[in-house]
This record gives sequence, C-alpha cells and structure tokens, in this order.
Amino acid sequence: MIVVMQPNATPEQIDHVVERVREIGLKDQVIKGTELSVVAVIGDDRKKDREVFETLPGVQKVVNILAPYKLSSNEVKTERTEVAIGQACVIGGTAVPVIAGPCSVENEQQILETARAVRDAGATALRGGAFKPRTTPYSFQGLGEEGLKLLSAARDETGLAIVTEVVTPSDVELVAEYADCLQIGTRNAQNYELLKAVGQQPRPVLYKRGMAMTLDEYLLAAEYILEAGNPNVILCERGIRTFENHVRNTLSLAAIPEVHKRSHLPIAADPSHGTGHAHLVPTLTYASIAAGADAILLEVHPDPQHAYTDGAQSLTPATFTEIMPTMQRVAESIGRTLSGMPVGV
Ligand code: PEP
Ligand code: MN
Repeated sequence: MIVVMQPNATPEQIDHVVERVREIGLKDQVIKGTELSVVAVIGDDRKKDREVFETLPGVQKVVNILAPYKLSSNEVKTERTEVAIGQACVIGGTAVPVIAGPCSVENEQQILETARAVRDAGATALRGGAFKPRTTPYSFQGLGEEGLKLLSAARDETGLAIVTEVVTPSDVELVAEYADCLQIGTRNAQNYELLKAVGQQPRPVLYKRGMAMTLDEYLLAAEYILEAGNPNVILCERGIRTFENHVRNTLSLAAIPEVHKRSHLPIAADPSHGTGHAHLVPTLTYASIAAGADAILLEVHPDPQHAYTDGAQSLTPATFTEIMPTMQRVAESIGRTLSGMPVGV
C-alpha cells in the first residue's frame, strides 16, 4: 500500500504519516519524487487499513500496490530511478554508461592497462572481480583485498568509478570501503542474507539476475535490497540457463523492456556473460542498447587468451575501442547517447 501525498504536502505532514505507519507496527519508506512524495507502507497486509491514512492532513490518496514486488514497482514511483556510481557515471538517464574491465583483477599491470584502455575508449566505470564466486573450488578465487587495492589505484589514475563483486555478507563492509558500486553475481542472486547486507549500506548495488530466475522472482528478490533501505539498485540482465548450448547463457533481451514496463529501476545488460563468446558480444551489445539497456557491462582483457577467468568472452581493448562508435550510433538512433562519448561519431 502507498500513501500518496499532495504535491504541496509539508515535511511535517509526511512525518506524521510515517509516525502513524510505525504506530501500527508497519515499516515505512518515503519515496520523494520531483512532483510529489509517497510513503510506502510495508509489512503484514492484515494490519493495513487505508482509512487510517486517507484522512490525514496532506494525503492525496491511498493506493494498493497490485504487483507482488512493491518498492521496485512503478506503481510506487512513476519516475525512472537514476543511480550514480562515483562522480561521472549515472545509470538510468538518457545517457548510457559503459562499465568495462576484466572478469578478474589479476595483477597491477593487467588492471591498469585495461583501465587506461577502456577509459580512452569512452567507458565511465571499471569492472573487475577481486572476490570471485567460482563454479569449482579449484579455480582462481580472486586476489581478495589486494585486488580491491589495485582497483582503487586504477580509479586514482583514471578517474573511473569501480564496480566489483561481493560474495559474502561478512565482506560487504570491506568491499564498500574500496568500491563505488557493489556487484551481486548471478550465483548469489537468491542469497537473501547478502541482499539484505548490501541493502544496509550506502553504496549502489549492481544486482545481476539469477541464471534460473524468472523476472517475477528477480524483482521480488530486489525488494530485499530496497526494503533494507538502499534505493540505489541497478538490475542487470546477464543471461539465463536455457536448453540452448551454442551460447553460455541466453541473454534475455525482452527482459529489458519488460523491466521498464514494470519497474522504475534501471536495468543494465551484460552481453559478455550473456553469450560467453567474444565474437557474439559486439552484436548483442548493439541489440541490448537497442532494447533499452540503461548501461552496458563488458568484459575486456588485454590478453584474453591468457585471462585467468572468462577469456573466451572477453574483448580485447582494440575490439572494445572499435565497437564504441557503433554503440554510440545505435544509442543515438533510439534517442539516447553513450555517456562519455562524442555525439555524431
Ligand atoms: C562477473 O561479472 O564476472 C560474473 C561472475 O558475473 P555473473 O555473476 O553474471 O556470472
Ligand atoms: Mn566474468
């Protein structure tokens, strides 16, 4: 249920609604829009009595949210949410940022070389895993804190915002110390304790879709982050498991406009994990932009053949640099631009 305030409602009137919500034993979340604010009333449906709120001063109306997901639904908030990662990377507006970098941080030279190359090509954020959730315990697990320090050095040199994965609630504080944005990977997409933990800290969260999650399940799980108090969630379509095996995952392009129809949250696309093969990545990147992706996540490695992880799907810096102007043209063709790229290339 949401309590929609009148456009001229005062902060005191909003506080009063919040007080009443708490008195009843429910949770509140105030969502401030440019036109008006709403108070989302969260918790046991049996305790929700719209009449309690309808007559309070400053209240315009009380609306039941029909979608099973509440805070992510665009019934709660009609304006699109924009999420800022660092200073220069905003996701959810007209401009589409590109977040690029290796699957894993391997060493200083690798991450710095990649960071410089992707920045020069027009990326606005650097990705790279320091903690890797691997399918087998025998594979490279990431450099841990050392990897975070290298990412931080790359940010200092290039100005790129840092996106990196956190795999366990006990590491959230550590990763948040270094990163501008915390990534939740597909294998942890239903790790609800981790979702709550990233919801309780202030960094934005790039939350990838679980490889076997329906869209409903995905949006419901995103509620854990929002409900815990963090509104800065970027969804990410990274491919799902299907019977098809010519690709590593099936990038569900239709999920992008469908999320836009249902939710105010921005959604990124990850054509690297969404295909698993570097030769498919450029085309699926263009298609993701055309489908309305609010950001693009790409794996780029200076020497893909020798990458510790995900080399087969990693672009070389040269290919990355080559595809950026076409990405820009596709963005322009649907009335958008790539952030950080000159228009009309
Ligand atoms: C990654 O981004 O390198 C990664 C592990 O992604 P996913 O969780 O989508 O597999
Ligand atoms: Mn990867």
